[in-house]
Amino acid sequence: MLQVQQLVRHFGGIRAVDGVSFDVSRGECVALIGPNGAGKSTCFACIAGQHQPTRGHIVWNGQVLDKLAPAERLRHGVARTFQVAQVFEALTVLQNVQLAVQARIGPRAISAFNLLDGQSREPAFALLEQTGLQVLADQDALSLPYGAKKRLELAMALAASPQLLLLDEPAAGLAEQERASLMKLVKTLAGQGVAVLYTEHNMDAVAGVADRVLVLIEGKLAAQGSFENISRDSMVRRLYLGDRVIDGADCA
Ligand code: ADP
Ligand code: MG
Repeated sequence: MLQVQQLVRHFGGIRAVDGVSFDVSRGECVALIGPNGAGKSTCFACIAGQHQPTRGHIVWNGQVLDKLAPAERLRHGVARTFQVAQVFEALTVLQNVQLAVQARIGPRAISAFNLLDGQSREPAFALLEQTGLQVLADQDALSLPYGAKKRLELAMALAASPQLLLLDEPAAGLAEQERASLMKLVKTLAGQGVAVLYTEHNMDAVAGVADRVLVLIEGKLAAQGSFENISRDSMVRRLYLGDRVIDGADCA
């Protein structure tokens, strides 16, 4: 189980995250929503290790992660994707995933002289299939449409066989149908026991997907509950949801 305990992260005078506590259990799919600048990505960075908390703790399966580097957290099963997809643009789609697979197998596989080995090909293909990218296997990552790049980043995160998956706007830039199929995959992963925490601005990627919704506003948790309850919360509607939620069509 992930436990975020009284998390605070300041950047100079900016209180990006200001005393946030929540849990995510195995098999749970939790959405962290809120306006731009609310602190969602900073929360992710504190959980995955790109930033250290100013105060508070990140506990995963009973272990305090606060001081661990991202790679060490990955070895504990904590993987993330970024709001702006991070992939190796000089490599093909398949090669990107092969690298991620090799990183799991062990650092021996990655050297300047032996960047990609045959052993990682099959598991990498399986991940491309899982994320619907197999037809793009040989395309350069540089020329990928944005949505495909997001899916590639997810495939790379899955290469680590994560138990906690943090997805920063996984469906941003995807067309509605693509978004639905991606969120279905995310839901399947949770069904297999992965703890999933994700951010999204598209409410169709939250309604019917998230088991629980956390609303972050100005670095503080303003509300939490089912999407149904959140979307009826007048304060949340005023400060964030507004026109995103249409009465009667909000809980598909
Ligand atoms: P969200 O993901 O909800 O849009 P962020 O976590 O990206 O929000 O940002 C929260 C606040 O922290 C914003 O005011 C942002 O400008 C600030 N912030 C985020 N990262 C940094 C950073 N590395 N340095 C300084 N300020 C930052
Ligand atoms: Mg963000």
